[in-house]
Amino acid sequence: MIDHKDPISMKQERAFIMIKPDGVARGLVGEIIQRFERTGGLKLTALKMFYPDYEQSCKHYDNSDAWKIKLGTRTKDAQKAQGREDPRDPIEIGNDIQEKLRNYLCQGPVVAMIWQGNQANQLCRKITGHTCPRDAAPGTVRGDLSVDDYDLSDASNRPMYNLLHCSDSPENAELEIKRWFKEDEIHAWQKLDEARLYEIWKSN
Ligand code: GDP
Ligand code: MG
Repeated sequence: MIDHKDPISMKQERAFIMIKPDGVARGLVGEIIQRFERTGGLKLTALKMFYPDYEQSCKHYDNSDAWKIKLGTRTKDAQKAQGREDPRDPIEIGNDIQEKLRNYLCQGPVVAMIWQGNQANQLCRKITGHTCPRDAAPGTVRGDLSVDDYDLSDASNRPMYNLLHCSDSPENAELEIKRWFKEDEIHAWQKLDEARLYEIWKSN
C-alpha cells in the first residue's frame, strides 16, 4: 500500500494492467511490458501469468446496465450504418458482448501487472491507447500492434482483440489489484531513478 504521508509516495499511484489472451497468444508479452517499463516513471511491483476463472472474470467487467446499454447502442449504430439491424434491445446485445468477454478472459493465460508512479493510471491509459485499436493513435500499444475494431469483431461474433486491459482511475485500479493480486505477490523495491523523480531536490 502506498503511504501518502511519505513525500516520495504522495506523488505516486498504482495502475492495474492485464495482457489479455490475444496479447499472450501473439507473443507480445515482452513488447508490451517494455512499453511501460521504458517510460522510466513507472515501477513494476507485481507480475504473474495465470488462467482467470469465470467468477473472477465476471467481477472484472462492469456489470451495470449503463455499460451494457453503451455497448449495445454502439453496436446497433454500427449495424445501422451498414444497413443491418439486430432486433434485440441494446441491453440484451450488451449482455451478449459482455458474456463473450468473460468467457474469452478465461481462455487465458493472461499476464497481470501493477505499475506504480506519478499519475500512473493516466500514463498507462496513454500508453495503452483507445479501446478500439482502429481508432487508437500510432505509438500506443493498441494503435501499433492491433488492427481490430468493433464492427469486425461483432461481425465475426467474437470479442475485440485489443491486447490488454488498463485500469481507468486510481480508485478502480485499487479494486482491481485487490481482486487479482494477493498482498504477498506485490513487492516493494527501490528503483535507481526513483530518487531523481520523486525526492525533494536539495541544492546543497
Ligand atoms: P477499455 O477500458 O479501453 O478496455 O474499454 P472499456 O472499459 O470501455 O471496455 C472494456 C472492454 O470491453 C474493451 O477493452 C473491449 O474489449 C470491450 N468493448 C468495449 N466496448 C465495446 C463495444 O462497443 N463492442 C465490443 N464488441 N466490445 C467492446
Ligand atoms: Mg475499462
